[in-house]
Amino acid sequence: MEGEVEKLEVKLLRCTTDAELLCGAAALTSTRSGSPSEILEKIDSKTAKRIIKRITGYGHASVIEHAYFTFSIEGVSRVMTHQLVRHRIASYTQQSQRYVTYDTIENYLTPSSIANSAKAKRIFDETLEKISETYKKLLRLGIPKEDARFILPNAAKTNIIVTMNARELRHFFNLRCCARAQWEIREAATEMLRQVKKVTPALFENAGPSCVELGYCPEGRMKPPECNVEETRKLFRSL
Ligand SMILES: Cc1cc2nc3c(=O)[nH]c(=O)nc-3n(C[C@H](O)[C@H](O)[C@H](O)COP(=O)(O)OP(=O)(O)OC[C@H]3O[C@@H](n4cnc5c(N)ncnc54)[C@H](O)[C@@H]3O)c2cc1C
Repeated sequence: MEGEVEKLEVKLLRCTTDAELLCGAAALTSTRSGSPSEILEKIDSKTAKRIIKRITGYGHASVIEHAYFTFSIEGVSRVMTHQLVRHRIASYTQQSQRYVTYDTIENYLTPSSIANSAKAKRIFDETLEKISETYKKLLRLGIPKEDARFILPNAAKTNIIVTMNARELRHFFNLRCCARAQWEIREAATEMLRQVKKVTPALFENAGPSCVELGYCPEGRMKPPECNVEETRKLFRSL
């Protein structure tokens, strides 16, 4: 029995139509006499991008809360989703262990650090096999899935759909694209950023770990020694 090595997928499913025009119009609503609908009708892309940059540069980030993004995050561990759902300004729906049966190897993930060590992998696979057998025995005894799942490990694979607005996403990227974040959520967050930058670059200019915007690492002595601020900034700006 062998668990699948990490292989997550991130898909941007939907986002607010004309998100940059909408946020630009929202920003102008505070200073113009016209109604939001009139402003939105007249605003062009170049103006919207310029206004978003100026207003968010002042720290008035509430205007980008009007833009929403929905992602499907597939084939991740429960370790990852447990961290993801700590972000409270978001909506989530996750595959349920009350309904999905965890009785085959496709339902588990192996981190590459374990997959790359023959000894660690043997111990890991043996333990997963034992867990899986125990889980199946419990189901055979008539124990409901919602109780049999108490035996399941963090390696259990799951799918989740998440919706966040652009302001919360930027905050999420600050924390979770950072080298301090755990690898699986960091990979997902970096892929989410890559995809939103393609559709709405002005909303995500200088997004990424906090250092991209700040120019220094706010983590102090927790900063990983191998992390180079300038290289990280270059990498995320070119994403
Ligand atoms: C590297 C790293 C290590 C971590 N280690 C641990 C750990 O060891 N243990 C642990 O428990 N967690 C840990 N966390 C999780 C962390 O503490 C946060 O729970 C998580 O990152 C969500 O961030 P948040 O609370 O800033 O943001 P969100 O929940 O995304 O909220 C966004 C912002 O909204 C505001 N906000 C939201 N809710 C409230 C509220 N109720 N009151 C006031 N303001 C609010 C805050 O300004 C907040 O920053 C870790 C996170 C990271 C990135």
